[in-house]
Amino acid sequence: MSDSIRRFMFEGAPIRGEIVQLDATWRAVLERHEYPPLLQTLLGEMMAASALLSATLKFDGAMLMQVQGSGPLRLLVVECTSAGTLRATAKWDALPEQAGFADLLRDARCAITLIQPDGSQSYQGVVEVVGDNVAEMLMHYMRHSEQIETALTVAADGMRVGGLLLQRLPESADDDADRWDRVCMLASTVEAAELLGLAPLDVVRRLFHEEDVRLFEPQPLAFRCACSKARVESMLTMLGPEEVESVLAERGHVEVTCEFCNRAYRLDPVDAAQLFVGGMRSPGSPTRH
Ligand SMILES: [Zn+2]
Repeated sequence: MSDSIRRFMFEGAPIRGEIVQLDATWRAVLERHEYPPLLQTLLGEMMAASALLSATLKFDGAMLMQVQGSGPLRLLVVECTSAGTLRATAKWDALPEQAGFADLLRDARCAITLIQPDGSQSYQGVVEVVGDNVAEMLMHYMRHSEQIETALTVAADGMRVGGLLLQRLPESADDDADRWDRVCMLASTVEAAELLGLAPLDVVRRLFHEEDVRLFEPQPLAFRCACSKARVESMLTMLGPEEVESVLAERGHVEVTCEFCNRAYRLDPVDAAQLFVGGMRSPGSPTRH
């Protein structure tokens, strides 16, 4: 089953795994923006990694994974929600055709933020970007920010993304002391073509056929953007009447484009005037009272 994530456990061992494969979800991201090929791969790998890591966390709301740097690649963002929806976007300057990960992302930081359903931030971890690819960057993040040993392999092409994660749970020791190294070694043999082309169930069976692995039911994932007219109006209300009026004076309307799904929200002067009727109301604001 594509567009799903599946958990597995090694019986009697403090090791868990997740395997993900996305196609329609990934193509929905690619249809909304024209990403240069180099960036496509990085964003796709980050989407797979984000789905895998979010599945290991207990949260209600959204997990935002952001990589921000001062190289030609300015920003990569993937958001996964606890409801199984994903969206992604990126910002970049002119990208070279060929460049290493470190050259694209100079002085970069990787942040993972958990956002509660009311919009408040419940957690943020930030680490310097270290490594030569998305998987190395996130393994470093997990070791330094979460102190959890994580093995991660991700792959992306223009049609699909896929990934495999293993985590050593810190609570208990393993009576088979070699198991962690052994299963990591097996996981490291998985090829991009397998993550992208085989059914996830077959990948797990093939890699760990000598281990006692219990597979859980796959959880469906899908692309969905959380933007709405109400959110755009709320954001404009926060900008204030002067700002909105100056845009109206210049262009005759206010247009806000969602950076995730590229949907444009356009307000004419009548709509814009409604924003500030009755003082500073905030339409659609998710804030609880
Ligand atoms: Zn949107």
